[in-house]
Amino acid sequence: MADKRYDLPILGTNPDRTYRLGIMGGTFDPIHNGHLVAAEQAYADLDLDIVVFMTAGRPAFKQHKKVTSGEDRYAMTLLATSDNPHFYPSRFEIDRAGITYTSDTLRLLRDYYPDNVEIYFITGADAIADIVTWNHSEDLAKLATFVGATRPGYNLDRASRAIDDSGIDFNVIYLEIPALAISSSYLRSRVAKGQSLRYLTPDSVTGYIHKHQLYGAKAGKYAD
Ligand code: ATP
Ligand code: MG
Repeated sequence: MADKRYDLPILGTNPDRTYRLGIMGGTFDPIHNGHLVAAEQAYADLDLDIVVFMTAGRPAFKQHKKVTSGEDRYAMTLLATSDNPHFYPSRFEIDRAGITYTSDTLRLLRDYYPDNVEIYFITGADAIADIVTWNHSEDLAKLATFVGATRPGYNLDRASRAIDDSGIDFNVIYLEIPALAISSSYLRSRVAKGQSLRYLTPDSVTGYIHKHQLYGAKAGKYAD
């Protein structure tokens, strides 16, 4: 069930229990099986109640890059998550004007949910290493537990060293996710070359990319 004011799941209604809310944030340009596997594994391993897929509005760190519209990225996220009852695709960030800072989103979520809702922010291990450079990283540490999913090519040591060096008391759980060397950039380059996305992202996402001719997909040319 969703809230009427914000596109967020209702959680925390029973004061006698604790709820665990997972947030999978990303540009999702486009969403792929790496995101889905990481979220599913975090759901299972950390006993989460639900995972919200938070499609980024205008990400602070991608301001100078060409990013597909929020509506298209959200639509693909909606398609990719629709068959999973514990995945919740949210418009929360794309409906907010201006640049999206994860710290602002986490603060809004923390204020919105009662104290019996714990927030777990799921990222790839590469992103964990960058958290310390994010806007207001000291506040961030207080708002959520961070879940660092291992990602091929990114060393967990780098992530834990970056956090140690920051001197900030981040609560981080590292999750070993079976290696999936998939990235959105890789998918975009495959589409531009007319190559198939089969088994890299759900077919519904591939269909959307071709229908809307994203990433240089040619009209009528559907690599399946
Ligand atoms: P791009 O190639 O455009 O940077 P991306 O594949 O990294 O895209 P994002 O939307 O930037 O996708 O990533 C959102 C989050 O998902 C980040 O925390 C990122 O680390 C994580 N992530 C992305 N791909 C994987 C993967 N294959 N396995 C685990 N985590 C991933
Ligand atoms: Mg990335």
